[in-house]
Amino acid sequence: MGLFDRIGEKLNEKVRETVEQKIDEGIDRAVDKATDTDAIEERIQERMDERREAKEASDAARRCPNCGKEVPEDPFCPECGTRIEPEGPVERKCPNCGSVSSGKFCSKCGTKLE
Ligand SMILES: [Zn+2]
Ligand SMILES: [Zn+2]
Repeated sequence: MGLFDRIGEKLNEKVRETVEQKIDEGIDRAVDKATDTDAIEERIQERMDERREAKEASDAARRCPNCGKEVPEDPFCPECGTRIEPEGPVERKCPNCGSVSSGKFCSKCGTKLE
């Protein structure tokens, strides 16, 4: 075995040790990071949910049917004074069968709801 072989062997040993150590460290760090990432991801998800809800809420914002201005709460448009119907689908009780539907017709018996 020549000198260079021995040096090479020693180096290999050292390198392997270092590499193994680095791998261990790397795994530890990866685990830490994974935990962090999960937490961050969770937070991001929460934020996105919040934002989507906010967006949905603003998409569903009431608008004046006359001038198109957004009217969040007032029963009358501050721009043109048009009366704005309450938010959401209007639920009506069927006069025939008594079930509540949000459409124009009773979903149970087909009676026209006024
Ligand atoms: Zn208006
Ligand atoms: Zn009905």
